[in-house]
Amino acid sequence: MRVAIAAPLAGLFDYLPPVAAAQDGLIPGVRLLVPFGRGRRVGILVETAADSDQDAARLKSVIAQLDPLPVLAAADLSLIRWAADYYRQPLGEALFSALPVRLRRPDAPLEEGVPGLRATAAGCALDLAELGRAVGQRRILEILRAAPAGLATGVLKAQLGPATAPLKVLRERGLIEPCRVLPAECDAPAIPDPTGPDLNPEQAQAVAAVQGAGTGFTPFLLDGVTGSGKTEVYIRLIQDVIAAGRQALVLVPEIGLTPQLRRRLERRLPGPHAVLHSALPEAERERAWHSAAAGRATLVLGTRSACFVPLPRLGLIIVDEEHDASLKQQDGFRYSARDLAVRRAQQVGCPVILGSATPSLETLHNARAGRYRRLRLSTRAGGAAAPAIALLDIRGQAMSAGLSPRLREQVELHTAAGNQVLLFLNRRGYAPVLTCHDCGWVGACPHCDARLTLHLRLQRLWCHHCGWFQPLPSTCPDCRSSDLRRLGLGTERLEEELRELFPHLSLARIDRDSTRRKGELDRLLTLIRQGEVQLLLGTQMLAKGHDFPGVTLVGILDLDQSLYAADFRAPERTAQLIVQVAGRAGRAQRPGRVVLQTRHPEHPLLKSLITSGYPGFAELALAEREAAGLPPYAHLALLRADAPDAQVPMAFLHQARALAMALLVDQPGLRVQVSSPVPAPMERRAGRYRAQLLLECARRPGLQTLLAAWVAQLRSIPRNGGLRWSLDVDPQDLT
Ligand code: ADP
Ligand code: ZN
Ligand code: ZN
Repeated sequence: MRVAIAAPLAGLFDYLPPVAAAQDGLIPGVRLLVPFGRGRRVGILVETAADSDQDAARLKSVIAQLDPLPVLAAADLSLIRWAADYYRQPLGEALFSALPVRLRRPDAPLEEGVPGLRATAAGCALDLAELGRAVGQRRILEILRAAPAGLATGVLKAQLGPATAPLKVLRERGLIEPCRVLPAECDAPAIPDPTGPDLNPEQAQAVAAVQGAGTGFTPFLLDGVTGSGKTEVYIRLIQDVIAAGRQALVLVPEIGLTPQLRRRLERRLPGPHAVLHSALPEAERERAWHSAAAGRATLVLGTRSACFVPLPRLGLIIVDEEHDASLKQQDGFRYSARDLAVRRAQQVGCPVILGSATPSLETLHNARAGRYRRLRLSTRAGGAAAPAIALLDIRGQAMSAGLSPRLREQVELHTAAGNQVLLFLNRRGYAPVLTCHDCGWVGACPHCDARLTLHLRLQRLWCHHCGWFQPLPSTCPDCRSSDLRRLGLGTERLEEELRELFPHLSLARIDRDSTRRKGELDRLLTLIRQGEVQLLLGTQMLAKGHDFPGVTLVGILDLDQSLYAADFRAPERTAQLIVQVAGRAGRAQRPGRVVLQTRHPEHPLLKSLITSGYPGFAELALAEREAAGLPPYAHLALLRADAPDAQVPMAFLHQARALAMALLVDQPGLRVQVSSPVPAPMERRAGRYRAQLLLECARRPGLQTLLAAWVAQLRSIPRNGGLRWSLDVDPQDLT
């Protein structure tokens, strides 16, 4: 039998069945404890092949079967195998990254729910009067009778206080008994309110199109401007799926998006719902996972890794904000949750909906080619007007707090009228650079080719790339001058300057630093929604998913840098960011206005965005990609390597290139182009030198064929000099 081991090792390992069990009693997907090297490892049974290439006498036996039933069903195994194959990752690592952490260890029996107590049949039938003056017992029985599925012991004890003696008596009398309580039944079941607003004609059309396509595999692009009611469309479709006794999977890019969306789904859709993201405590995540895998959860809402959660009755997959780069895992097992969602829907045979106000160029290309059906929501739901975006040329303007005089005036006007203003600056910290006015010293990270960002409140110079920091120097480390100056603007400094500029306005800043404390983001968002804040400023945390109905003016302070970033996706990202930020304005009945400050008003992509919106921009950007032979017109794979010494990764990549070229000589039909190795745009990060090699091919299968043979060869190259390498198939960025 073939077993994948919980380790970043390629390939499967052959074992003999455990002595106790007959081989045919074992189903693929169960966890096994196996001898491995000198130790033991947890593995997952992948295939029950009767024969092995290896000498039977030398095969070892499985030590134990860890689960009575598979933790991964056949469909889950086949999806993960496909993913490991496509992204060229070790299967063991892929399988185990799809499981809750505890299941990656051997000593973890599958346990569902938490220990609790419930009333027995006798306890339910008992006339409470019979308990007489035993008030404690009576109270417990009353509580437990009201919770037929049982109550977690912790919850019960919290209600009872310290007196636990009556519990013991009741148990001895057989009136209550221990049980395991499942999470959904721990909470009071919320009563869902299924009714929502009447759908507008476009929404109704979108819903009808999905319903009309049937329950089999059909991929859709739901292309709807911000606030057009995409979520409402999802809700209607999920209602159908749940009513049909099936499960829905909703993938979102960021944890920050889940609280609002989660509450909205909870109000409208019958539960239990399972929420899965990495910021949850491990136990909570595992409970949600079991609830999904056992088929109990009607809805799974999760971030990218949720795309692997076992769902025995899966009936619909939705990927919201499908353009978002965080749907792609950027380290370890590098996969795109969006692309896997489509693949999974195809394997299972169910509809999949990719939703966005700013669809990725890949998805637009698929829609144009007829592979995805495109559904459009072109107007805002509830009649709110779409915001107009205006470019504001700031060349030669006297700026204060990052604002040109015109924008400053607008801020005064809008706040004076009782509205909220949102200012967007995509740079956290105080100032990007601290420099010495006398000798020109600038704070640079000793481990990266990067400058340190000044964080004034924490009195730190901080590297945003590796996390290294140092206390703020009071004099120049080079020349001892005390004339240290701050260049540039981060949100922390912007907040300070805005408070000076607009002392009469209340202000909230939302970025990674200001919301570090748990619950802080929610608190700020509530303040904003209640109108306690007139001026809100922040980074892209503000741009995603949150609704700010009181905002009528959005000021985008400085995106020029990202327009000219080296990465080929930079313009697409920038355009998406602008449109997403702009979408925060005027969501209620008040019309919104968006002002984009720039020193490059002539930039063609900016101009296309302003004059013909995101669709016009996308048209132009796709044409540029096609001319340049870039995705979606070509398929890429990036081999990254790094080591403490700059020579090591380059030498490895040269060797890798030679191997690829040799394979291509044998199979010239593959038509893969292999670039020369180059240092990464930021060559040194966290003390390691980084280099990369790009592979490009017009056809996916050609690239895949080459990668299969090539990666096997790369794995057998000895890794000397602290070399690390990784392959990124369909990379999101080339950095
Ligand atoms: P999106 O997901 O596209 O950003 P939402 O579904 O969140 O849009 O809808 C934006 C706002 O419009 C929400 O407050 C929602 O309740 C409201 N809304 C959605 N559909 C309708 C409708 N048909 N009629 C009235 N209001 C609607
Ligand atoms: Zn100096
Ligand atoms: Zn650094």
